[in-house]
Amino acid sequence: MFEKLFNKVSNCKFKQAESTLCVMCCHVLEKNTPILSVAHDMEDIWQFFCGADGHEYNDIRIVTLSEVTEIDSCINELSEIPLGAGAIRASTEEAWRQYTLDVE
Ligand SMILES: [Zn+2]
Repeated sequence: MFEKLFNKVSNCKFKQAESTLCVMCCHVLEKNTPILSVAHDMEDIWQFFCGADGHEYNDIRIVTLSEVTEIDSCINELSEIPLGAGAIRASTEEAWRQYTLDVE
């Protein structure tokens, strides 16, 4: 698996390492649902979701940043989002709208 990743020309524009682990929901990873919701939490964890509500623990998958940008290279547009912020879009046709995460 790692050989496959390293032999490929990367299009990952994030300043974190391509091998950085991040969170993705199973709908994006396994059901080809587009990424509509992105968060960069205060612990520096990137999260990529389909935008539906009510994700549960079982819906969460761990992927690398390079896998995320392979799934959707538009995600590179969001590489500058600071900690504690995120972005959503209504569909893949729409522009991203950035927002600040509610910190509990
Ligand atoms: Zn989902």
